[in-house]
Amino acid sequence: MKTHHQILIVGGGNAGITAAAQLLRANQQLNVAVIEPSDKHYYMPAWTLVGGGVYNMKDTIHNEADVIPKEAKWMKDAVVSFEPGENKLTTQSGNEYSYDVLIVGAGIQMNWHLIKGLKETLGKNGVTSNYHKEYAPYTWECLKNLKDGDTALFTAPSTPVRCGGASQKIMYLFGDYCRRHNIKAHIEFTSAGTVIFGIKKYADELMKMVNKYGIQLSFKHNLMAVDGQNQMAAFRVTDANGVVSEVQKKFNVLHVTPPQSAPDYFSKSALADAKGWFDADKYTLQHLRYKNVFGLGDILNTPNAKTGAAIRKQTPVLVTNILAFLKNQPLTAQYNGYGSCPLVVGYGKLILAEFGYDNKVMETFPFDQSKPSWLMYQLKRYVLPWLYWHKIVKGQM
Ligand SMILES: Cc1cc2nc3c(=O)[nH]c(=O)nc-3n(C[C@H](O)[C@H](O)[C@H](O)COP(=O)(O)OP(=O)(O)OC[C@H]3O[C@@H](n4cnc5c(N)ncnc54)[C@H](O)[C@@H]3O)c2cc1C
Repeated sequence: MKTHHQILIVGGGNAGITAAAQLLRANQQLNVAVIEPSDKHYYMPAWTLVGGGVYNMKDTIHNEADVIPKEAKWMKDAVVSFEPGENKLTTQSGNEYSYDVLIVGAGIQMNWHLIKGLKETLGKNGVTSNYHKEYAPYTWECLKNLKDGDTALFTAPSTPVRCGGASQKIMYLFGDYCRRHNIKAHIEFTSAGTVIFGIKKYADELMKMVNKYGIQLSFKHNLMAVDGQNQMAAFRVTDANGVVSEVQKKFNVLHVTPPQSAPDYFSKSALADAKGWFDADKYTLQHLRYKNVFGLGDILNTPNAKTGAAIRKQTPVLVTNILAFLKNQPLTAQYNGYGSCPLVVGYGKLILAEFGYDNKVMETFPFDQSKPSWLMYQLKRYVLPWLYWHKIVKGQM
């Protein structure tokens, strides 16, 4: 079957749905279709709180049918290949779809399989991850069962990740929980990176949290393998002289942030850059080679934080530019790289990092957002989820 749509959207996640809703709010006459295989839609930013035992997983899940704008057509199917030279793509069911404009909101792929032994043990033996809907509730089980003398390791990979802060937010919740319940556990951040956060203003405050909770920082530690039964994790460690060795660490809890990449079905396409990501103009979000193709969200190769907050600022730019493109007008809207990282640093405490390209701090509120704030925690816990389901996916902000 061959079908044509004026605007075809790949992915009905945060990016795809927000784009569809804002386009249709701008012009109800547009012919917009979304290809999305899942019948569920997730609000992932709350998975950190699920792992911390203060949010219900079921409240992060809605039916996809309820978030897709009613004026848009939903194809419950999965893209398998792109042929941008012919303005078309092919899906798993064998259908071909052509378009005037394509929006790619394909998200990011969790590469669990790249860590030896991980898939076999995730969800048991104290091995968990808030990056997966199945296991965020298990993180809370692990935290509740933590005892004096236990070791909890929190990993971060060397690849780009969605919401980089999520690998450490849960660590601070562990730290705060131990402090409140007088549990003497060893907490360690085993990160392939070299710093706690890329912006000094926020890094300085995070270091205060690290010291307060007695967290050990082990940088240049890249998780390679997990032996769940024996609760051992193997890291490739690079020392100050660049010498690489393997280090084994015993754990009772291992929270894994997996290596991530663009989805395989996308990264092998002509739309991908050399590393597999969507090859975008970082200001207009237009594809660098295929001018009727635009990208949005985690799939982009733009140097911003891969967050829902970034999508909130990208979408109006994308919509303005697509409407201009359809009228053969120049693209004037520009994305400034804004992203935000609501760094939960304890129960009732949050540092709201907001920044754009070149790590330029771009705070919203008239106070120093690097200081842990009860008010900002309430924003994350109550206000942002409400805004997501009632305003953002409806294209109203
Ligand atoms: C633990 C955690 C904490 C986070 N915390 C925050 C936070 O505090 N603040 C914040 O702003 N962001 C946060 N984020 C990040 C935020 O959730 C993501 O940046 C955002 O969801 C990305 O949206 P997206 O549309 O690009 O990707 P997704 O929402 O993943 O959408 C991609 C869609 O593509 C679909 N798809 C898959 N295969 C195919 C196919 N073959 N064809 C078509 N479609 C396909 C998928 O089903 C999915 O619906 C967090 C994420 C996690 C995991």
